[in-house]
Amino acid sequence: MTLHSASSNTPKLGMRTTKQRTAVVEVMQDIDRFLSAKEIHTALQEREAKVGLTTVYRTLQSLVDIHAVDALHSPTGETLYRHCETDSHHHHLVCTKCGRTEEIDGGPIEEWARTVADTYGFQLTGHDAEVFGICTKCQEKA
Ligand SMILES: [Zn+2]
Ligand SMILES: [Zn+2]
Ligand SMILES: [Zn+2]
Repeated sequence: MTLHSASSNTPKLGMRTTKQRTAVVEVMQDIDRFLSAKEIHTALQEREAKVGLTTVYRTLQSLVDIHAVDALHSPTGETLYRHCETDSHHHHLVCTKCGRTEEIDGGPIEEWARTVADTYGFQLTGHDAEVFGICTKCQEKA
């Protein structure tokens, strides 16, 4: 199940909108898949936006902090970033070949996380679960 909402094209930039933030988010909206900081940096250079790699990292971190951008760890250990359309809590189904991403509902994971935390007397502060696979288009190509 996807959670795309109608009013989804407004970039989420947070309160302190800087030129760097705008440039980084614009690239992410255009490419629309999970990207590494290096890939975002390269895309910015192609657009002649003068943003250094360190600034890209710092900008991405600040966007993650305000939940404007989602971060996940790929199976190869890279940190990848995406500007998601869904504002509410969601998970990701990511194609490991082309990076295509579906924003998905956590389904039974939500209840499971609560139950596990309860069982051990933990106060639940969060949980993490991403699904990786090969999308239909990439399967056809293979
Ligand atoms: Zn997301
Ligand atoms: Zn794919
Ligand atoms: Zn969840």
